[in-house]
Amino acid sequence: MLVDGETRELVRYTALQASLLEERNWRLAVLGVEEIGIRPTVVASLIGVDPAAEWELAAGRVDAVAAEIDDPQLFVSLENVRVQDETDLRELGGRYEELGVDLSERSDQLFDELRAVAGDLPNGAALLRTARVLEAAAATRTSTAIQLSSYFSARFSGPDTARDEATVLVQQQVVYDGAIKQINRSVRPNSNVAAQMLVVEQSAEIARFEEGVAQLIVDIQASAAVGTAEGFANIAGDLDGVARQFEAGKVSSGVHLDLVTAAGTDVIVSSQMLTSRANDATRQATATIAVLSVLSVAFAIALTRFIGQPLYRLSETASLLRDGVHRDNEVFSGPSEIREAASALNEASSHLRLAERQANALARGDLDAAVLAETARGDLGVSLQAAVQTLAASLAEREEFRRRLAHEASHDGLTHLPNRKACLAQLEAGLVRTDQRRSTLAVIFIDLDGFKIVNDQFGHPAGDLVLETTSARLLAGVREGDHVGRLGGDEFVVIAEPVASLDEAERLAARLLEAIGEPISLGKATVRVGASIGIAMADESHAEADALLRDADLAVYRAKSNGRNQVVVCDEELRSLVVHQNELEVELRLAIENDELTLFYQPIVDPNSGALVGLEALIRWFRPDGTLVSPDAFIPFAERSDLIVEIDCWVVARVARQLDAWRRGGAGALLPVSINISGRHLSVDDFVVDVMSPLEQYGVDPTLIIIEVTERALLDDLGGAATKLQTLRDNGVRIAIDDFGTGYTSLAHLRTLPIDILKLDQSFTRDDSTQSLVKLIIDTGHLLGVSITSEGIETADQARALSELGSDDLQGYYYGRPSPPEDVVFGANELADEVSS
Ligand code: C2E
Ligand code: MG
Ligand code: MG
Repeated sequence: MLVDGETRELVRYTALQASLLEERNWRLAVLGVEEIGIRPTVVASLIGVDPAAEWELAAGRVDAVAAEIDDPQLFVSLENVRVQDETDLRELGGRYEELGVDLSERSDQLFDELRAVAGDLPNGAALLRTARVLEAAAATRTSTAIQLSSYFSARFSGPDTARDEATVLVQQQVVYDGAIKQINRSVRPNSNVAAQMLVVEQSAEIARFEEGVAQLIVDIQASAAVGTAEGFANIAGDLDGVARQFEAGKVSSGVHLDLVTAAGTDVIVSSQMLTSRANDATRQATATIAVLSVLSVAFAIALTRFIGQPLYRLSETASLLRDGVHRDNEVFSGPSEIREAASALNEASSHLRLAERQANALARGDLDAAVLAETARGDLGVSLQAAVQTLAASLAEREEFRRRLAHEASHDGLTHLPNRKACLAQLEAGLVRTDQRRSTLAVIFIDLDGFKIVNDQFGHPAGDLVLETTSARLLAGVREGDHVGRLGGDEFVVIAEPVASLDEAERLAARLLEAIGEPISLGKATVRVGASIGIAMADESHAEADALLRDADLAVYRAKSNGRNQVVVCDEELRSLVVHQNELEVELRLAIENDELTLFYQPIVDPNSGALVGLEALIRWFRPDGTLVSPDAFIPFAERSDLIVEIDCWVVARVARQLDAWRRGGAGALLPVSINISGRHLSVDDFVVDVMSPLEQYGVDPTLIIIEVTERALLDDLGGAATKLQTLRDNGVRIAIDDFGTGYTSLAHLRTLPIDILKLDQSFTRDDSTQSLVKLIIDTGHLLGVSITSEGIETADQARALSELGSDDLQGYYYGRPSPPEDVVFGANELADEVSS
């Protein structure tokens, strides 16, 4: 340790200086005594002190201290001083002083270095203080040595020397006092110097030495003032005094040397303390660094836990949030920035959760959900709430629209009853239910009678009122849980579920029939409508809704054919009829393939001339067993499927072929042929092509073709049918409405229909009471440019009557039955012959 080494060297140099001074003094004393002719042994016996022995002791101390100083040059210098010529005391003293100056320079240098080093150290001031004490202690020792030397010099030299030495002594007194003050100022209590200072202060020998010096100074000053050699001789001659002073000086020298040693020890102790403090400081610093390192690692870990982990979780939460996964309100630790970001994230998450819950509610269509009213905090919440409200409103609108559409799609616009489709669905559901409950249900099919007449006579608003009234009466008449629906036109259905028995269903149907038959007020007029009602009971063999409805429909037909306004139950007999009819349908298909169908032709005559003006083609089915099946027995069943279209096409082709054949056969002026076309065919897109292509194929003039359609077929698809018929008219084909008067067509309709001929239904021909109506129809028809043909003319009276009413043409057995083409005679006379025959 630098400080420690320098301190020790400083102590050694100080000790060396002090010892060297001692050596010098004793040597000079020995030499001085010898110079004045006194042997040292004499001196020793006189004053009890052997200067030569003291010199040797001092020289030994110098050597011992010098040996501790690692400076080869120092021994050289010492040797140089010691081998000096011993005759010149002054010269010798000067050499010692030179070496002393060298040593003190070195110790000053060491002191400066110590000050510099100690100044940089913490607690270095304490070291410097002890160093200053050492300096002062060294000064007391040096001063004491000088005083001792000067004292003897003054005692044993001449007056001049004595005066010089007195000056030196005075100076050294000042030096000594200053050094003692310095020590007292700087000494630490309990230090080695403090202890030694007590020795110095309490030393009687030191006090005596100081007194001796002081007395000598006084004596020299007095002698000098007297200026006599005797006086000086007195000074020198006081051997007792000199001896005492010698002894005191020797003790003083020793005590002050101990003071220097004590001061040196203090310096070393201080230096060691500083060193150990420095070491402590280093250890502390190391420990601090270690602690700091541990702390920094701990901090890094803490940072990771405190900042890193929350940050990681934050980013994880953020990415989850981005992916649409949001956790419940997460608790985040860490610095405030992270917690703020986390709370923002949590808020965003809760916004999203709210948005999600609201979206779910909206998606469920749960527009009354409480969550929709919730508003998240802040601007985002407000915008979100506004969006939710807008969305909810538009969803509500859409839902209402959807409900309306669904209602319209499943309900009848006029009566608001479920339509055919909805009724079938209801029936299906009911069948499942009754199947599960082992109960049964009844389908009550209601077809109004006389409705068409009301419609024709009183107009559509009246017809609508009849339908609405019927609907209300049915609803009022059914039992709770029964379903009422409108199948279309004047057809209604009641699904009675459950029913205990057929009787119960029949009683219900009877009640409904009665209710329907109640008068309906149309304002000025009151009308009554009846109903043909068919009942079909669900049982194991009728698991299908379609089949059940068809059975009930079948019963309605039966009710109508039985005379209307009655209830008919679809029983086994009726069903077997259906089975039979289904078989018929199959057979009919085969009939077309097997060419079992043929066409008969019935004449149409001009009543005024009796001339044949046209023919109606009427289909006939000759079965392989030879029996003839009339169209009424199979056309309605053919109309239940597209089979009728096939039949119609076959008929058109056959007529075209026949006309071609007649033309080829030279049958004079060819007559127009009326062809019956089913309403079902009329609704087929290819209808016009189906008619025109056979004509083209056989090169038949379209003006020779009259297409007969029923009123009902026309009204089912008024727009579409009219367009197709008009297309045919544009091609030269004429259009006739068959069986006019039995359907729903009002006369007003005639204006808008593309027709050329009205064929009055047979019923008008036979019923005299309708003459005025027939007259009205004929006149209106004529007004509209339509020609009238009356059907079912069986007698001359009828022919006459209808002719007089204005009918343009007549048709009926009176003029001729339908007959095979080969029997058709193109001549009025022959026709008349047939009629008469
Ligand atoms: P429609 O078109 O009104 O035909 C007239 C029906 O009245 C024919 O019955 C005819 O034989 C019958 N008739 C004619 N004059 C008299 C008479 O003086 N007294 C009586 N009682 N009846 C008379 P038909 O041939 O049995 O046809 C019945 C219905 O079948 C036809 O009524 C027509 O609607 C339909 N029909 C006949 N042939 C065809 C056809 O080729 N295609 C289609 N789609 N339907 C046809
Ligand atoms: Mg006809
Ligand atoms: Mg007819």
